Amino acid sequence: MPAYHPESELLMDYASGALPEPVALLVASHVSLCRDCQAEVARLEALGGALFDGLEGEAMAPGAMDHALARLEVTDNLEAASATTSPPSRAGRLVPRPLRDYLGDDLEALSWKTRAGVSEAALLTSFPGFRTRLLRIKAGTTLPQHTHEGSEYTLLLAGGFTDASGHYLRGDVAVADPSVDHRPVADDGEDCLCLAVTDAPLRLTGPVGRYLNFLARL
Ligand SMILES: [Zn+2]
Repeated sequence: MPAYHPESELLMDYASGALPEPVALLVASHVSLCRDCQAEVARLEALGGALFDGLEGEAMAPGAMDHALARLEVTDNLEAASATTSPPSRAGRLVPRPLRDYLGDDLEALSWKTRAGVSEAALLTSFPGFRTRLLRIKAGTTLPQHTHEGSEYTLLLAGGFTDASGHYLRGDVAVADPSVDHRPVADDGEDCLCLAVTDAPLRLTGPVGRYLNFLARL
Protein backbone atom coordinates (compact mmCIF):
# COMPACT_ATOMS: atom_id res chain seq x y z
CA MET A 1 0.00 0.00 0.00
CA PRO A 2 1.26 3.50 -0.81
CA ALA A 3 2.53 5.53 2.15
CA TYR A 4 2.25 8.99 0.56
CA HIS A 5 -1.17 10.10 -0.71
CA PRO A 6 -2.45 13.19 -2.55
CA GLU A 7 -3.45 15.88 -0.03
CA SER A 8 -7.16 15.90 0.81
CA GLU A 9 -7.89 19.11 -1.17
CA LEU A 10 -6.56 17.34 -4.25
CA LEU A 11 -8.79 14.29 -3.65
CA MET A 12 -11.77 16.59 -3.10
CA ASP A 13 -11.12 18.45 -6.36
CA TYR A 14 -10.65 15.12 -8.10
CA ALA A 15 -13.93 13.73 -6.74
CA SER A 16 -15.79 16.85 -7.87
CA GLY A 17 -14.21 16.78 -11.34
CA ALA A 18 -12.48 20.14 -10.81
CA LEU A 19 -8.88 19.07 -11.50
CA PRO A 20 -7.18 19.89 -14.80
CA GLU A 21 -6.75 16.70 -16.81
CA PRO A 22 -2.97 16.15 -16.31
CA VAL A 23 -3.36 16.30 -12.51
CA ALA A 24 -6.61 14.30 -12.64
CA LEU A 25 -4.74 11.58 -14.55
CA LEU A 26 -2.06 11.42 -11.88
CA VAL A 27 -4.61 11.29 -9.05
CA ALA A 28 -6.73 8.67 -10.87
CA SER A 29 -3.59 6.54 -11.32
CA HIS A 30 -2.75 6.79 -7.62
CA VAL A 31 -6.35 6.01 -6.64
CA SER A 32 -6.28 2.87 -8.81
CA LEU A 33 -3.29 1.66 -6.71
CA CYS A 34 -4.56 2.79 -3.29
CA ARG A 35 -7.53 1.29 -1.40
CA ASP A 36 -7.57 4.08 1.19
CA CYS A 37 -7.96 6.77 -1.45
CA GLN A 38 -10.52 4.68 -3.37
CA ALA A 39 -12.66 4.63 -0.22
CA GLU A 40 -12.11 8.34 0.38
CA VAL A 41 -13.02 9.27 -3.22
CA ALA A 42 -16.16 7.12 -3.05
CA ARG A 43 -17.12 8.91 0.20
CA LEU A 44 -16.48 12.36 -1.32
CA GLU A 45 -18.42 11.45 -4.47
CA ALA A 46 -21.40 10.32 -2.40
CA LEU A 47 -21.19 13.55 -0.42
CA GLY A 48 -20.93 15.57 -3.66
CA GLY A 49 -23.92 13.69 -5.11
CA ALA A 50 -25.99 14.51 -2.03
CA LEU A 51 -25.01 18.19 -2.28
CA PHE A 52 -25.75 18.19 -6.00
CA ASP A 53 -29.25 16.78 -5.36
CA GLY A 54 -29.77 19.50 -2.76
CA LEU A 55 -28.89 22.14 -5.34
CA GLU A 56 -31.24 20.79 -7.99
CA GLY A 57 -33.18 23.55 -9.62
CA GLU A 58 -30.58 26.19 -8.79
CA ALA A 59 -28.32 27.64 -11.45
CA MET A 60 -25.10 25.63 -11.97
CA ALA A 61 -21.76 27.40 -11.73
CA PRO A 62 -20.27 28.18 -15.15
CA GLY A 63 -18.26 25.19 -16.34
CA ALA A 64 -19.83 22.82 -13.83
CA MET A 65 -21.57 20.84 -16.57
CA ASP A 66 -18.32 20.56 -18.57
CA HIS A 67 -16.58 19.22 -15.50
CA ALA A 68 -19.36 16.76 -14.83
CA LEU A 69 -19.24 15.57 -18.45
CA ALA A 70 -15.43 15.29 -18.39
CA ARG A 71 -15.73 13.04 -15.34
CA LEU A 72 -18.26 10.84 -17.08
CA GLU A 73 -15.82 10.43 -19.98
CA VAL A 74 -13.08 9.33 -17.60
CA THR A 75 -15.47 6.79 -16.07
CA ASP A 76 -16.38 5.52 -19.54
CA ASN A 77 -12.69 5.13 -20.37
CA LEU A 78 -12.14 3.15 -17.19
CA GLU A 79 -14.95 0.80 -18.03
CA ALA A 80 -13.86 0.43 -21.64
CA ALA A 81 -10.33 -0.39 -20.50
CA SER A 82 -11.50 -3.02 -18.04
CA ALA A 83 -13.35 -4.74 -20.88
CA THR A 84 -10.11 -5.26 -22.85
CA THR A 85 -9.04 -8.87 -22.88
CA SER A 86 -5.50 -8.78 -24.29
CA PRO A 87 -2.96 -8.92 -21.44
CA PRO A 88 -0.58 -5.92 -21.28
CA SER A 89 3.18 -6.31 -21.78
CA ARG A 90 5.46 -6.69 -18.74
CA ALA A 91 6.29 -2.97 -18.70
CA GLY A 92 2.63 -2.17 -19.39
CA ARG A 93 1.60 -4.03 -16.24
CA LEU A 94 3.45 -1.41 -14.18
CA VAL A 95 1.22 1.28 -15.65
CA PRO A 96 -2.08 1.81 -13.80
CA ARG A 97 -5.17 1.51 -15.97
CA PRO A 98 -6.11 5.24 -16.16
CA LEU A 99 -2.63 6.00 -17.46
CA ARG A 100 -2.61 3.00 -19.78
CA ASP A 101 -5.63 4.50 -21.56
CA TYR A 102 -3.38 7.37 -22.64
CA LEU A 103 -0.24 5.38 -23.37
CA GLY A 104 -1.37 2.07 -24.70
CA ASP A 105 0.60 -0.71 -23.05
CA ASP A 106 3.79 -0.48 -25.11
CA LEU A 107 6.07 1.93 -23.27
CA GLU A 108 8.77 1.47 -25.92
CA ALA A 109 6.46 2.96 -28.53
CA LEU A 110 6.61 6.36 -26.79
CA SER A 111 9.17 8.84 -28.04
CA TRP A 112 11.83 8.81 -25.33
CA LYS A 113 14.60 11.37 -24.97
CA THR A 114 17.56 10.29 -22.84
CA ARG A 115 20.12 12.50 -21.12
CA ALA A 116 22.43 11.79 -18.19
CA GLY A 117 20.68 8.63 -17.00
CA VAL A 118 17.17 10.10 -17.29
CA SER A 119 14.76 9.22 -20.12
CA GLU A 120 11.59 11.18 -20.55
CA ALA A 121 8.53 10.90 -22.77
CA ALA A 122 6.14 13.85 -23.01
CA LEU A 123 2.42 13.08 -22.54
CA LEU A 124 -0.76 15.18 -22.78
CA THR A 125 1.14 17.89 -24.64
CA SER A 126 -2.06 19.74 -25.55
CA PHE A 127 -2.58 21.18 -22.04
CA PRO A 128 -0.85 24.57 -21.94
CA GLY A 129 0.69 25.45 -18.57
CA PHE A 130 1.29 21.79 -17.69
CA ARG A 131 4.21 19.55 -18.36
CA THR A 132 3.30 15.88 -18.12
CA ARG A 133 6.07 13.34 -18.49
CA LEU A 134 6.82 9.71 -17.95
CA LEU A 135 10.33 9.52 -16.50
CA ARG A 136 12.68 6.57 -16.38
CA ILE A 137 15.62 7.18 -14.10
CA LYS A 138 18.54 4.76 -14.04
CA ALA A 139 19.02 3.10 -10.64
CA GLY A 140 21.34 5.14 -8.40
CA THR A 141 21.09 8.36 -10.46
CA THR A 142 21.03 11.70 -8.65
CA LEU A 143 18.83 14.26 -10.38
CA PRO A 144 20.04 17.86 -10.66
CA GLN A 145 19.08 20.01 -7.69
CA HIS A 146 16.04 22.07 -8.59
CA THR A 147 13.10 24.03 -7.32
CA HIS A 148 9.78 24.89 -9.02
CA GLU A 149 7.85 27.95 -9.96
CA GLY A 150 4.64 25.97 -9.57
CA SER A 151 3.85 22.56 -8.09
CA GLU A 152 5.40 19.29 -9.15
CA TYR A 153 3.47 16.06 -8.59
CA THR A 154 5.27 12.75 -9.00
CA LEU A 155 3.64 9.32 -8.91
CA LEU A 156 6.08 6.45 -8.50
CA LEU A 157 5.31 3.43 -10.68
CA ALA A 158 8.47 1.32 -10.22
CA GLY A 159 11.72 1.50 -8.28
CA GLY A 160 11.99 4.28 -5.73
CA PHE A 161 13.58 7.59 -4.91
CA THR A 162 14.61 9.56 -1.86
CA ASP A 163 14.72 13.29 -1.26
CA ALA A 164 14.69 15.45 1.86
CA SER A 165 10.92 14.87 2.24
CA GLY A 166 11.01 11.07 2.27
CA HIS A 167 11.50 7.75 0.50
CA TYR A 168 8.97 7.07 -2.25
CA LEU A 169 7.94 3.69 -3.69
CA ARG A 170 5.32 2.37 -6.13
CA GLY A 171 1.99 4.16 -5.74
CA ASP A 172 3.42 7.01 -3.65
CA VAL A 173 2.73 10.63 -4.63
CA ALA A 174 5.42 13.23 -3.95
CA VAL A 175 4.38 16.87 -4.07
CA ALA A 176 6.96 19.64 -4.29
CA ASP A 177 5.86 23.27 -4.17
CA PRO A 178 7.99 26.38 -4.90
CA SER A 179 9.46 26.35 -1.37
CA VAL A 180 11.05 22.93 -1.94
CA ASP A 181 14.60 22.90 -3.26
CA HIS A 182 15.33 19.25 -3.73
CA ARG A 183 17.70 16.76 -5.22
CA PRO A 184 16.00 13.38 -5.63
CA VAL A 185 18.18 10.24 -5.77
CA ALA A 186 16.87 7.09 -7.46
CA ASP A 187 17.19 3.89 -5.38
CA ASP A 188 19.87 1.38 -6.31
CA GLY A 189 18.86 -1.95 -7.77
CA GLU A 190 15.89 -1.07 -9.96
CA ASP A 191 15.31 1.72 -12.49
CA CYS A 192 12.75 4.24 -11.33
CA LEU A 193 9.64 4.82 -13.45
CA CYS A 194 7.37 7.70 -12.59
CA LEU A 195 4.68 10.00 -13.89
CA ALA A 196 5.51 13.66 -13.27
CA VAL A 197 3.16 16.61 -13.71
CA THR A 198 4.56 20.12 -13.31
CA ASP A 199 2.37 23.18 -13.58
CA ALA A 200 5.19 25.66 -14.33
CA PRO A 201 8.76 25.33 -15.61
CA LEU A 202 11.42 23.96 -13.27
CA ARG A 203 14.06 26.37 -12.02
CA LEU A 204 17.45 24.71 -11.49
CA THR A 205 19.30 26.02 -8.44
CA GLY A 206 22.68 24.21 -8.13
CA PRO A 207 25.79 25.81 -9.72
CA VAL A 208 25.30 23.82 -12.94
CA GLY A 209 21.57 24.52 -12.83
CA ARG A 210 22.09 28.27 -12.55
CA TYR A 211 24.30 28.12 -15.61
CA LEU A 212 21.67 26.05 -17.49
CA ASN A 213 18.96 28.56 -16.52
CA PHE A 214 21.20 31.33 -17.76
CA LEU A 215 21.65 29.48 -21.07
CA ALA A 216 17.93 28.76 -21.30
CA ARG A 217 17.21 32.48 -21.13
CA LEU A 218 19.59 33.37 -23.99
ZN1 LIG B 1 -3.83 6.97 -1.43
